[in-house]
Amino acid sequence: MTQKLTTAQRDELKALLLSRRKELQQQMAQNLENLAPAENNAGSVSQDENARLKNQTREVDGALTAMDADELARIDRALEAMDDGEYGQCEECGCAIPFERLKIEPMTQHCVACKTKWEQQQARL
Ligand SMILES: [Zn+2]
Repeated sequence: MTQKLTTAQRDELKALLLSRRKELQQQMAQNLENLAPAENNAGSVSQDENARLKNQTREVDGALTAMDADELARIDRALEAMDDGEYGQCEECGCAIPFERLKIEPMTQHCVACKTKWEQQQARL
């Protein structure tokens, strides 16, 4: 019943992961750029104020960057699993995750059944 991914399918998912990874890295680079003050009021802002604005922006972008870094780590784990030949297996029940699902969420580590179960547990909390 469990179907292993074909090489072509795996290559397709790998390409998806790699492009998503590139996107995230660009986004993170953008966030880091934003850490500089967004608007330079040509000297009308004092140094102190500038520093404060910089800190505010840093907090927001820092949070965003942490989220991106988290997703990036998941992508890296998926790519690693691919190299190890373990990609596409549910971490919970060990079944093969269907290609259709992986195509939508290539870095997922759980099959629909386990994910649903988990979500229901979360909803009850
Ligand atoms: Zn499962």
